[in-house]
Amino acid sequence: MGSCACDHCTAACCRYVAIPLDKPKSAKDYDDMRWYLMHDGVIVFVEEGDWYIQFQTRCKNLGLNSMCQVYETRPMICREYEAGECDYTGGDYGYDHLFTHPVQVEEHYNQKTGKHLPSIEHLHKRTTSPKRKKRATAAVS
Ligand code: SF4
Ligand code: SF4
Repeated sequence: MGSCACDHCTAACCRYVAIPLDKPKSAKDYDDMRWYLMHDGVIVFVEEGDWYIQFQTRCKNLGLNSMCQVYETRPMICREYEAGECDYTGGDYGYDHLFTHPVQVEEHYNQKTGKHLPSIEHLHKRTTSPKRKKRATAAVS
């Protein structure tokens, strides 16, 4: 009997949910994305121009032996997913962008617009305001 890649994998494809995300347009969209990434197990990625949010979460139907416990009635999305170009055998994902930390979103927004996100703009102002610099200088002398 032939061997399948799935026989050697611990079901990488059954341990997350990836959902399409509207492409962020406004500062609020980017700020919301910062919030998503403040949560454990959440990443955002862009693949072939399409944006996705991914939640690292194990399917409840995955048995301890890494086998599907509802194989006969598994959803279509599972049926259509094939070993070959999959999470285990596909190699590098080749994302256009991968965001795993809120700071990466801030940097991306800053690069795109030349501005800081409004939620952190006041921090930037505070650390660069002349008043603060003066006080810091006074403290040193
Ligand atoms: S399809 Fe790929 S990721 Fe999913 S169980 Fe098979 S080898 Fe693993
Ligand atoms: S239903 Fe089965 S095949 Fe689909 S994600 Fe869950 S364990 Fe994997």
